[in-house]
Amino acid sequence: MNTARIEIIQGDITKSEVDAIVNAANTSLLGGGGVDGAIHMAAGSALLAECRTLGGCKTGEAKITRGYRLPAKFVIHTPGPRYKDGNHNEAELLASCYRNCLKLAVENHCATVDFPSISTGVYSFPLNDAAKIAVRTLAEELEHCPNIKRVRMVCFDQKTMKAYETALEALKAEE
Ligand code: ADP
Repeated sequence: MNTARIEIIQGDITKSEVDAIVNAANTSLLGGGGVDGAIHMAAGSALLAECRTLGGCKTGEAKITRGYRLPAKFVIHTPGPRYKDGNHNEAELLASCYRNCLKLAVENHCATVDFPSISTGVYSFPLNDAAKIAVRTLAEELEHCPNIKRVRMVCFDQKTMKAYETALEALKAEE
C-alpha cells in the first residue's frame, strides 16, 4: 500500500491544473449531469465530438480523451456502477474504475491525476463505503505506479471531503 501520494481536497475538478482529470461518466460517454456535465461545459463541444468517436464505455472500464479547454491535458472517462443493493458487484466495479483510470494515466505518461467521488452522486453509492474502496484501491495500485507523483480526490462538498479524509486516515493507521 502507498498512501503518501494520495491527497484529499475540496474543489471543482474542472479547475484542476493536472495531467489528467477523471470524469464520472455514463456508459454512452455522451455527457450527463453532475460532474460529467460540468466537465463537458468547461471543456467545450470538441470534447463531446471526440467522445462520439469512442463507442461508449462499459461500467468499471475507462477511456481517455484530450482536455480541450480544460486546464487538464487529458480527461479519463469512467462509468461508475449505479448502486442497487450492494449485491450487484457494485464494490468490485467501483474499484475497477479507479484501477483502470490509473492504468490509462500511466500509459499516457500522466504524473498528476485528479478524481471526483465516482458513483456517490446520481448513482447513489453509499459515501463512506465508496470512500473506503477508492482510497484502498488507489493505495494498492500506486505501489505499482512509480511514475505517478500525486493522486487527489477532488471533493465538491464538505461532507464528501470528510468521508474521504476519514477513509484515508484509517488506511494510514493500518500501514
Ligand atoms: P455519479 O453519476 O457517478 O454518481 P455525479 O456527477 O452525480 O456522478 O456525482 C459524483 C460526485 O461528483 C458527487 O460527489 C458530486 O457532488 C461531485 N461533483 C459534481 N460536480 C463536480 C465538480 N465540478 N468537481 C468535482 N466534483 C463534482
